[in-house]
Amino acid sequence: MEFKGLLHVHSTYSRDGKYNIQQIREFYKDYDFITITNHYEHCSERFDEIISEIDIQNNKPNSIGKKQLILFGFEYQYNYSHILFIGHKGTMPTNLEKIKALIKEKKPLVILAHPQMKDFELLKKSLIDSVDGFEVYNSLHTDKQCPAFHLLRKLKEMREKKSAMKAFFGEDFHNGVNSDTAIYVTAEKLASTDIIQAMKNGDYYIKNRYFTYYPDGRFIYAGKKFLPLTKSYCIGAVQYLSQKFGKVLSYFPYSSAIKEKLHKLLQLLFGRI
Ligand SMILES: [Zn+2]
Ligand SMILES: [Zn+2]
Repeated sequence: MEFKGLLHVHSTYSRDGKYNIQQIREFYKDYDFITITNHYEHCSERFDEIISEIDIQNNKPNSIGKKQLILFGFEYQYNYSHILFIGHKGTMPTNLEKIKALIKEKKPLVILAHPQMKDFELLKKSLIDSVDGFEVYNSLHTDKQCPAFHLLRKLKEMREKKSAMKAFFGEDFHNGVNSDTAIYVTAEKLASTDIIQAMKNGDYYIKNRYFTYYPDGRFIYAGKKFLPLTKSYCIGAVQYLSQKFGKVLSYFPYSSAIKEKLHKLLQLLFGRI
């Protein structure tokens, strides 16, 4: 069966989260599952409280009478990298070797959140075998209309080292709904272990009104011939193409004819499925 879910959500257990879990369920009432990932430093002493609240929520249907699963996770800060741990309900060691051992033993879903270039150094050097994937789209940190081109390129590079490295997304909910993005997971049933395992296996795709993309980084536009391409999207695309072809392309006038060409070129490069 296919389940519609949300990744990377902060509730009031994060100091910067505005809404409690019940209110978040109301915002996303048509989603089958919601992954709560509060900042670890804000809530590691309240795990028991969070877990029992999640249990209560999981045992009652939501306001439209729908069974909805809340997954427990947290966003852990290692050096300056933010890493989502989903499915592990205990505290974290601070030592990197112990963190790696914990991942090996407990097998949580591990996603590098909103990565910056320096985070890839850590990933390459120490965490490549431990991390399931990273956000190539984050509703707060990247362009709304497509996954970030530089992160898609990084995904390709990482997949040459580890073919199972996957593209994820993060809603990074703090103060309200950012996007209509969802992850559609194929699993046998709506239960934490099934959903987490399916995501670890790559049995999903990510979709919103603008695009669909897959764990391996292929993406397609959402059936619209032309998107209302934003300036940051065009700049991102030009930078991407410059690196791809190894020469600097200048940023061209922001006209619909150019957008059309850019759009076709991108489709050609990424391919349709
Ligand atoms: Zn973060
Ligand atoms: Zn976050």
